[in-house]
Amino acid sequence: MLPKNIPKGNTLAISLKVHSQRQLRYDHCPQEPKDGHSMSSNSVHTSNKFIRVAIPTPLRRLFDYLPPTMPVAPGCRVVVPFGPRELIGIVLAIETSTDVPADKLKSIVNVLDLEPLLPAQVIKLCQWTARYYHYSLGETLMLALPKNLRQGKPAFYGKVVHWFATDNPQQKPPPQAKKQRAALELLVSNPEGVSTTELKDLGFSQTVLKALEKNHLAYTGEPTPQPFTDIKEPLKGAHLRLNAEQAYACEAVTGGLGSYRTFLLEGVTGSGKTEVYLQVIGAALAAGKQTLVLVPEIGLTPQTVRRFRDRYAVPVVCLHSGLNDGERLQGWLAAARGSAGIVIATRSGIFTPLPHLGLIIVDEEHDGSYKQQDSLRYNARDLAIIRGQQSRCPVVLGSATPSLETLHNARHGKYIQLHLRQRAGRARPPTMMLLDMRRQTLKDGLASELLQKMTTHLELGNQVMVFLNRRGYAPSMICHDCGTLIDCPQCDAHMTIHRYPPHMHCHHCDLQQAIPWQCPSCQGRKLQPVGQGTERIEQSLCQHFPNYPVLRIDRDTTRKKMALGAMLDEVHSGKPCIVLGTQMLAKGHHFPNVTLVAIINADAGLFSADFRGPERTGQLITQVAGRAGRGDKPGQVIIQTYNPRHPALQLLATQGYSRFADSLFAERRQLNLPPQGYLALIRTESTRPQESEALLMALRQCGEEQQGSQVSILGPIPAPMEKRQGRYRWHLLVQANQRNHLHQQVNTMVGYLECQRLPKQLKWAVDIDPQEMS
Ligand code: ADP
Ligand code: ZN
Repeated sequence: MLPKNIPKGNTLAISLKVHSQRQLRYDHCPQEPKDGHSMSSNSVHTSNKFIRVAIPTPLRRLFDYLPPTMPVAPGCRVVVPFGPRELIGIVLAIETSTDVPADKLKSIVNVLDLEPLLPAQVIKLCQWTARYYHYSLGETLMLALPKNLRQGKPAFYGKVVHWFATDNPQQKPPPQAKKQRAALELLVSNPEGVSTTELKDLGFSQTVLKALEKNHLAYTGEPTPQPFTDIKEPLKGAHLRLNAEQAYACEAVTGGLGSYRTFLLEGVTGSGKTEVYLQVIGAALAAGKQTLVLVPEIGLTPQTVRRFRDRYAVPVVCLHSGLNDGERLQGWLAAARGSAGIVIATRSGIFTPLPHLGLIIVDEEHDGSYKQQDSLRYNARDLAIIRGQQSRCPVVLGSATPSLETLHNARHGKYIQLHLRQRAGRARPPTMMLLDMRRQTLKDGLASELLQKMTTHLELGNQVMVFLNRRGYAPSMICHDCGTLIDCPQCDAHMTIHRYPPHMHCHHCDLQQAIPWQCPSCQGRKLQPVGQGTERIEQSLCQHFPNYPVLRIDRDTTRKKMALGAMLDEVHSGKPCIVLGTQMLAKGHHFPNVTLVAIINADAGLFSADFRGPERTGQLITQVAGRAGRGDKPGQVIIQTYNPRHPALQLLATQGYSRFADSLFAERRQLNLPPQGYLALIRTESTRPQESEALLMALRQCGEEQQGSQVSILGPIPAPMEKRQGRYRWHLLVQANQRNHLHQQVNTMVGYLECQRLPKQLKWAVDIDPQEMS
């Protein structure tokens, strides 16, 4: 979604469907406030009831209506007249007075829920969110709802097909095929049924399931949800015996159940954080409490979910972007009605109603996917802490590479720090080596020393992982005659060359073009790829290691649902092979036979324009390195760099992430950057070159008039990539040492922006605690 354009909400206009299938749209506000906040009033009603409704418009205020003929309560969806059209809103309160003039008051048209759909706990969280991120409450509440409910559909479980095992399938002859046996085993251990999508994610095709059905081993139906507390024996699989550090962490969190407290579980990769989560969840279930587990976008793998399902007999619900609307609604309702004991969700899952919430876990808390990068730019990790405070339950932030913000809070005593310093089981930490690329013979960016090491590991029967965070064949193409680089016409960026299928692709605006055969500026014909992408490394590795399979895992090779599963199966088979991939490989996977991890280019992020560049590079390198030596054999990590003397990189390689983070703290302190100070970024963009800058200039002036000495305003400056998708983008940075000063300042500035009548193509957005400065 695009940033807000005030006063007309047309960029946010969505089409809404109600029961009657009538199309509802809005793009105009009939009661537009003059001052942006409150409405002018002539007469005040006191005798009647008035319904205060939050409506999805960019305006940061609520709207009053006359009551409908049917009963209505806070948390219910209602259909209200709004200008020339009707919109769906959420009732927030029943009031006895309003300052809307009598002749302006309209009635609620329809009530969509007999009982409140959104409980008070979620409304409260949304209120906090809207205030903190300077966003409209109506739009925030709508984001908290699954799409079907946002569109006005009824809150019913619906007909999402689930598969169940028939009674006593053990007494029948087991299926011959391995896949069928595995599918049956899964169904037997999940008596509440497994949806077709989930089965597909786990690699079970319709053919496998139909075969089970034919042999009367499985059948399809609709789930009949029951409260998870009805399940007398929630523990199904056996817990592992914890090591001393795990046991300490587990006891600390378990002892904190029933009240708010944030724990930072800082555990090196493979130290058994997930095992700690699993056992703490057991304590929550025993106390009749639900757990919300937030995971990064790419961390929600079927394997992760499987670990929770194998351990507990209570329904485990997943909420992620891969579900269809019906499945999402079903999961949401199972959580909201207390039939799910465990909810595993990506970012937006933080808004899921959980009547018995007793524990929140944020896995890989440093991960960038917790921050939404458009419309409401919230950080689900930060909201988890607010929700924990509001619901009085513990919050566990887990990571091998905590963000500097979290480390800062832990070191200042706001969070309780728990350490897992050793790998679980017998695995030992890998050794790290910086490989100086200067004066090395390179083959497509691979140093000969690295190729030799790879040979050694493969010949010993081990697996090698090669990491490069750049897909495609090469990141740019140059004319050998005149030096022109092929650029995207819509962005300040080069076009990436792809081989499969051959085309040029802009990774910023998604524009795709044929590969040119002539230079656009000198018409020369000597166009050459520059740099390396995964496709090029794959080609080079295939030539160099003809006897070993090379598995490329990136967004391009895993578009089909089954493709990733098939490749992962091959790695899990343990046979020697080379796994090559992007950051998709960095997380969650447990490949015991990988003994060597190679990082092709560690330098890019160290010198990025974004002040978080080094932090992210350190996290990524540590996470990728964590894939090495997770089994019985020791692991080795080789980092190719042109800057082997870079102090931070050296610290990372020799002393580990924690010392590396210390060196970054010092840098941030000097520059007054987070976690030292607080930031807000005001972004503007327009198809016309000067407009974005001009608006920010005016905004700066308005800001300076109100500004206290505690706040500094920097800019306007062009975004690091000024032009993207044909839009010119500018930034204004607000910096303060205290949050309340920052918010006061931003509030004034947003008030100013809301009052402007801006041309349609000029948009603005506020980003509190920005993560990406791009
Ligand atoms: P993390 O989440 O920290 O990356 P995991 O929980 O995935 O680590 O654990 C890594 C591996 O170690 C897994 O295979 C897990 O089963 C195993 N493991 C975890 N805890 C123990 C333990 N206490 N004893 C033996 N193995 C363990
Ligand atoms: Zn582009």
